[in-house]
Amino acid sequence: MTPPNLISHLDQLIFDNRFVRELPADPESVNSRRQVFGSCYSKVSPTPVSGPKLVAFSKEVAALLDLSVEVCESDEFINTFVGNRLVAGMEPYAMCYGGHQFGQWAGQLGDGRAINLGEVVNQQGQRWALQLKGAGLTPYSRTADGLAVLRSSIREFLCSEAMHHLGVPTTRALSLITTGEWVKRDMFYDGNPKYEPGAVVCRVAPSFTRFGNFQIFAARGDVDNLKKLVDYTIRTDFPHLGAPSPSVYVAWFEEVCRRTAQMIVHWQRVGFVHGVMNTDNMSILGLTIDYGPYGWLENYDPGWTPNTTDAGGKRYRFGNQPQIAFWNLGQLANAIYPLIGNIESLQQAIDSYGEAFAQGWQTMMAEKLGFEVFDTGSDDQLIEELQKLLQDVETDMSIFYRRLALVEMNTELADELLMTPLIEAFYVPEQLTVAYKTRFCRWLRGYIKRTQRNVVSGAERRRRMNAVNPKYVLRNYLAQLAIDQAEQGDYQLVGELLELLRTPYDEQPDKEKFAEKRPDWARQRAGCSMLSCSS
Ligand code: AMP
Ligand code: MG
Repeated sequence: MTPPNLISHLDQLIFDNRFVRELPADPESVNSRRQVFGSCYSKVSPTPVSGPKLVAFSKEVAALLDLSVEVCESDEFINTFVGNRLVAGMEPYAMCYGGHQFGQWAGQLGDGRAINLGEVVNQQGQRWALQLKGAGLTPYSRTADGLAVLRSSIREFLCSEAMHHLGVPTTRALSLITTGEWVKRDMFYDGNPKYEPGAVVCRVAPSFTRFGNFQIFAARGDVDNLKKLVDYTIRTDFPHLGAPSPSVYVAWFEEVCRRTAQMIVHWQRVGFVHGVMNTDNMSILGLTIDYGPYGWLENYDPGWTPNTTDAGGKRYRFGNQPQIAFWNLGQLANAIYPLIGNIESLQQAIDSYGEAFAQGWQTMMAEKLGFEVFDTGSDDQLIEELQKLLQDVETDMSIFYRRLALVEMNTELADELLMTPLIEAFYVPEQLTVAYKTRFCRWLRGYIKRTQRNVVSGAERRRRMNAVNPKYVLRNYLAQLAIDQAEQGDYQLVGELLELLRTPYDEQPDKEKFAEKRPDWARQRAGCSMLSCSS
C-alpha cells in the first residue's frame, strides 16, 4: 500500500457537507437563543478568541484526516481548530435536538456549545464530521455561555482517545487548544465561581446525530422532518439496509439496539461510567459521546456514579448502565413510532437489545476470565460469587482482572501463595480477614478447575486475557493530575497520558506507576472521586 499524500495546508481538505446540503436549515440567521422549529440545524460561526495555544493533538486522528504532523503544529491549524478562521469548504452549524434528562423530557437542547465545521472526505473515501466543542454561543445555548474550560476539555480529549485504543466505540478527538480567555465556572454549584482557562476540543466522528435529534421532531409532532432525518441517516450511515421503508425503519432501529448493546458491553468490560446517559448523549451510531462527569471504576462498585448531580438517585451508576440504555432505546422507539405505526415490530426490535446485551456480556465475561466459551451451567454462579467478593472488600477492578492472568493454576497451593499475584488489587489490607481469604481462595480454586476445561495453553489464555483486560485506563486521579499541571501551564502529563493510553493492553515497564491503584489522597478529592456537570 502506498502511503497517502499528507496534506500540507488545511485548504487542501476536501469537504462534502451532506448534512447541511440535504437537511432543512433554520431560516433565521441571527445567532440568538431561541426555539428552532422545522429545522435540523442552524448556521452559526465559531466565536474568535484572543490567544490560542495548542495543548495536544492526536496523531491517529490527524492521520484519519490525512494531516501531517507539520500541519498539526502550524498556526493555521491552531487558528482553525480553535474557531478563529474557516477553511475553504467549511459550512459551520449547530444541530437542533432535544432529550430526556434524568428521565424527564427536557424539550429543545441542541448544540449549545458545539459547532460543526463540516464533513471531510479523506483519501480513502472515509467521511469524518468535525465539531468544535466550546467555540461560542449558538441558538441552542439556552442560559449558558457556549464555552468549555480546560479541565473538562482535557478530560474529553484524553478519554475519547483512550476509549478508542481500548477498542470501545467512541467519538474521537483531533485537538485540544486553549483559547487564552477566562471562563467563569461555579464548579461546586455553591455560589463560589472562579475563572478558569477556556479551551476548545475538535471532535471527530462519522456523525454526531443523537437519539435526541429524532425525539425533538416527534415531540413537536413534526413527522415530515422526522422522516427526512431518519431517511437521511439510513442513506448515509446505514446504507447496507437498503432504501428507507417501514420495514427498513424497523431493521435500522434493531441495528441501533445492537450497536448500543455492544457499546455498553464494552463500558462494563473496562469499567467506564458515562455519568450522564441522557437521550441527548446517546449516539445513533452506538458511539460513546459527550465526555462530561464520567469516571472509571477503581474499587469495583456497581452502585458508583461519578456525577454529583446524580448522587441522589444514582440513575447513571455503573451497574445500571445496561438498563438505562434500554430505557433510552425505548424513548427512541417512541420517537420513530409514527413512521412505523406497528407496535409489535418495534417491540421485537427492541427485544434484540436484551439478546445482544446478554450474549455480548457473556462472551465478554468469558474473555475477561480466560474461558474459551461461556458456559451457563457453571459460569453464571462463578461470576455472581466473584462480584460479591469484589464488593465485600475494596478491590481495584482493573488490577484484579489484569493480575488474575498471573494466578498459578494449581489448586494445591496454600491460600497465601495462591492469592499473592492479586494482593496489589486490594485497597484496605485490614479487610483481608482469614474468613475472607478462605472464601476468596475457595472461589479461586473453583476458577482454576473451570479454567482447566480450556483446550488452549496457559500462555495463550494469558495472552487472550491481557488483550481484553487493560493494564492502563484513564484513572480519575490521573486525569486530575494532568489537569492540575495544565492549569499551571505545563502540558507534559497530558502528552504523557495520551501516549501511555495508545497501548493500554501492553506492559509498559517504565510506566508502572500509572497502573497503580488510586492513592489515598484521591479518595475524596473533587475531580477524582466525584465530578460536577460544570464544564
Ligand atoms: P450535557 O449535559 O453536557 O450533555 O449538555 C446538555 C445541554 O446543555 C446540551 O444542549 C449542551 O449543548 C448544553 N450545554 C452544556 N454546557 C453548555 C455551555 N457552557 N454553553 C452552552 N450550552 C451548554
Ligand atoms: Mg450533551
